[in-house]
Amino acid sequence: MKLFNPITVVLFLVAGGMLVFVMLRGPVHSLPAVESLANYQTADAPLFLPEDGKPRHRLHQLSAWERVSLPRAVRFDSPMGSEHGGLTYNAQPFWEMNDKRGGHHVGDDLNGIGGMNTDLGDPVFASADGIVLYAAEPSEGWGKIVVLGHHAPDGRELHTMYAHLHRIDVAVGATVARGDRIGTVGTANGYYPAHLHFEIRESDGVDIGAGYSMLPLNRLDPTATIEALRGAADDQLAPPMLSVALAREEPWNRLELSPEDAAKLGEILGGE
Ligand SMILES: [Zn+2]
Repeated sequence: MKLFNPITVVLFLVAGGMLVFVMLRGPVHSLPAVESLANYQTADAPLFLPEDGKPRHRLHQLSAWERVSLPRAVRFDSPMGSEHGGLTYNAQPFWEMNDKRGGHHVGDDLNGIGGMNTDLGDPVFASADGIVLYAAEPSEGWGKIVVLGHHAPDGRELHTMYAHLHRIDVAVGATVARGDRIGTVGTANGYYPAHLHFEIRESDGVDIGAGYSMLPLNRLDPTATIEALRGAADDQLAPPMLSVALAREEPWNRLELSPEDAAKLGEILGGE
């Protein structure tokens, strides 16, 4: 084989070119430059996962004003069945390893006790007072999803996520109260028997993500979190107005002022 055979020369040039290209390109793992951070929908690098497993959000989903106006949720309840999750069971608890999916389950799979599709169309309730941050279908496998934002009593910003819904009953930006119906139990376009995939996250950023992960990310154990944030007992929550009125010894509509305040008010009103 001649060294300066045209084919050999071409091969040398191609190999050399590839080598130069790889050298100029730098390490494969370097991140692309971030060119758009206008908002979370157009950002070209919204989220990446560092080695400690905590997502670092490049973007906040909420403005500073929205963040301070998140409702303070004094109590968290089960999102299906009764407030206490009655008539439901958890078919795949948080952090259970799922070999087929290659990761730990990052939520709870709540089902009606009848099993299979008997809970299809059952109401899904807001776990706590909150604001609707997301209400859409990110993919076929996820189906319809609602994400609510809450201010926990301990100051944390928590998200509750309700996935595989059959129907969404709330709009983005709406304020919801604990126990409001936000959608119905679904099958994620027939991918699964009907159930509610329910997650709680400590977050103010954006990542719908996946239902399984080897890393803890920002996911919290929903059952344990609800238990910890249960808050006030049933009979201490928002007593009916009539019972409050009847419990008062004084008439409901009397203006109660100290003698000093009454005198000041009299001056202001120009009375004696
Ligand atoms: Zn699930």
